Amino acid sequence: MIDTCPFCAIAQGDAPVSTVYEDEAVMAFIPLHPVYPGACLVIPKAHIDHFTNVPDPLAAKVIVVAQQVGRKIMTVYKPLRIGMLVHGFTVAHAHLHLIPQYGPLDIMHKHYAYCEDGNVKFGDKDIPTPSRQELDQMASTLKL
Ligand SMILES: [Zn+2]
Repeated sequence: MIDTCPFCAIAQGDAPVSTVYEDEAVMAFIPLHPVYPGACLVIPKAHIDHFTNVPDPLAAKVIVVAQQVGRKIMTVYKPLRIGMLVHGFTVAHAHLHLIPQYGPLDIMHKHYAYCEDGNVKFGDKDIPTPSRQELDQMASTLKL
């Protein structure tokens, strides 16, 4: 565990979270800024920065949970596809984004791009921030 890592705090129960799934090694939860309802993050509870450094058995568990949550997202929210993305620039704790996709650009940056002072920038400022109650409601629809 890293004291300054927000995902370690979530995994240790020290930060608010809208949990979809949790076992001894893996957790799935709704991000603070879901691109679409049902978007989810899946993490190993252990602090490992790069996804490529997650030991194979743990990586397999993360992927299996991602598949199970993805199936639930398909059933509940009925997107065309589920996208998976490993980014890692915002929080240096391996995490896998599950993104409901309603079109071919939903996995890309279109939600994050904005124009400021004549420059294209990227961030989550234009993505709505649901209340904790709304995040909890989303999580309740996806519980495994
Ligand atoms: Zn961490």
